[in-house]
Amino acid sequence: HRGFKDIGYHFYITRDGGIHRGRSLERIGAHCKNHNRHSVGICYEGGLSAGGIPADTRTLEQKATLLALLRELRAVLPEAIIVGHRDLNPLKGCPCFDAVKEYEGL
Ligand SMILES: [Zn+2]
Repeated sequence: HRGFKDIGYHFYITRDGGIHRGRSLERIGAHCKNHNRHSVGICYEGGLSAGGIPADTRTLEQKATLLALLRELRAVLPEAIIVGHRDLNPLKGCPCFDAVKEYEGL
């Protein structure tokens, strides 16, 4: 959501739908205060409108990659809940869409 690759995440999805691995799943992330010990962090490139306002700027490619990645993680971590950063930290606006609702069927 900051528009650059942060090693604190486990996965980073670029606008072209490419997926880049940050930390391995075995390593604790550094992406969400108070939740790093029990979460997997996924970040997408973008998240700001041209005017610099937080916005859902995901491309179709990013949405497809994100969905595929979440399906894979769901298979490995069946107990996991899928939430947005903002659902865990009200001071955050990212990911600028309702992750709970969008992925409730997974
Ligand atoms: Zn965030």
